[in-house]
Amino acid sequence: MINEKRLTDEFCELVAIDAPSYGERKMADRLKEKLSALGFEVQEDDAGSHYGSETGNLYGVLKGTLPGAPLLFSSHMDTVEPSAGKRAVLHEDGRITSAGDTVLGSDDLAGIVGILEAVRHLQEENIPHRDIEILFPIAEEVFCKGALVADYTRLRAKEAYVLDLSGAPGTASLQEPTHISFQIDIRGKAAHAGFVPEEGINAIAAAASAIVALPQGRPDEETTFNIGVIEGGLATNIVPAHCSVKGEIRCYTHEKALRMLEDVIRVFEAHAGGAEVGCSHQINMLAYRVPKDHPVVTRFLDACKKLDLPGTLTKTHGGSDNNHFMRNGITGIVLSCGMNEVHSVSEYTTVTQLKDMAALTAELMQG
Ligand SMILES: [Zn+2]
Repeated sequence: MINEKRLTDEFCELVAIDAPSYGERKMADRLKEKLSALGFEVQEDDAGSHYGSETGNLYGVLKGTLPGAPLLFSSHMDTVEPSAGKRAVLHEDGRITSAGDTVLGSDDLAGIVGILEAVRHLQEENIPHRDIEILFPIAEEVFCKGALVADYTRLRAKEAYVLDLSGAPGTASLQEPTHISFQIDIRGKAAHAGFVPEEGINAIAAAASAIVALPQGRPDEETTFNIGVIEGGLATNIVPAHCSVKGEIRCYTHEKALRMLEDVIRVFEAHAGGAEVGCSHQINMLAYRVPKDHPVVTRFLDACKKLDLPGTLTKTHGGSDNNHFMRNGITGIVLSCGMNEVHSVSEYTTVTQLKDMAALTAELMQG
């Protein structure tokens, strides 16, 4: 049986451990102890060293008795700010919130305790399960930096469940967009704004004209576009020689996202008015879509049916560690795991949602 008290206590215990992105050391140490106590063979990589941090991603392997390749379960160890001194408050109605001055950290501890309790439950009741692999990455909240440098040769699993989606358990996201961030640099020509303005080329004006011509917001059903940062100019009496513009593109079709980036550069060039235009960009996520008839999906739907959970399939316009799993040959889907109003001090979970997630995870582990 899923042990409600043990599960809630463990959740509250982990919430009390500070684990901001790149500061997951204490969390990793505690989770290593917990995984080892459950019989997992535990390893840690050197992911943190890429970013000047001292914590790596955690890997766990537990032998099962059922045939089939191992299944991978993953939740990230870090939490967003404000996170220092988090404390879980259990309310009479079963809601669990923070004390009000920090996030709760159910993103993503609801996933972590779901995985731990599921394994305990299977072991206590002697329920046969598949080989289980675990990856608890660092630094998900800062664009999935742990999963980016994870050592995928340590994993045998080809199918994954990433417990890192908002909402009550019973929903899975099968699709994420390509995400490109870019910076446009416009180099005009400085001149005294009062004496010889006609000798200058105003980089800010060129940028403004291009930005107005670009389709902000949601250019079409599968695409979003945003200019988020603009910087330039030195003083009111100087025609500005430089302006930089930062933005992002998200689109469910990768090639289309790339084409849109080319269009953006063309628009800036067309509005440059004699200024030079440079562009640098970074592809942060690669669009993927897991087919609905893939075993990783049908297994999820079967488990939901058995537990009387909704079994809703959706897509997200955000990214997750799963993006990197997909790029490394692991087909994963992202599961809602009982985190709500995340990235705010009103974040909460409930005892029922934690229990449902543990039960769902245990069901999935049985393959
Ligand atoms: Zn998360």
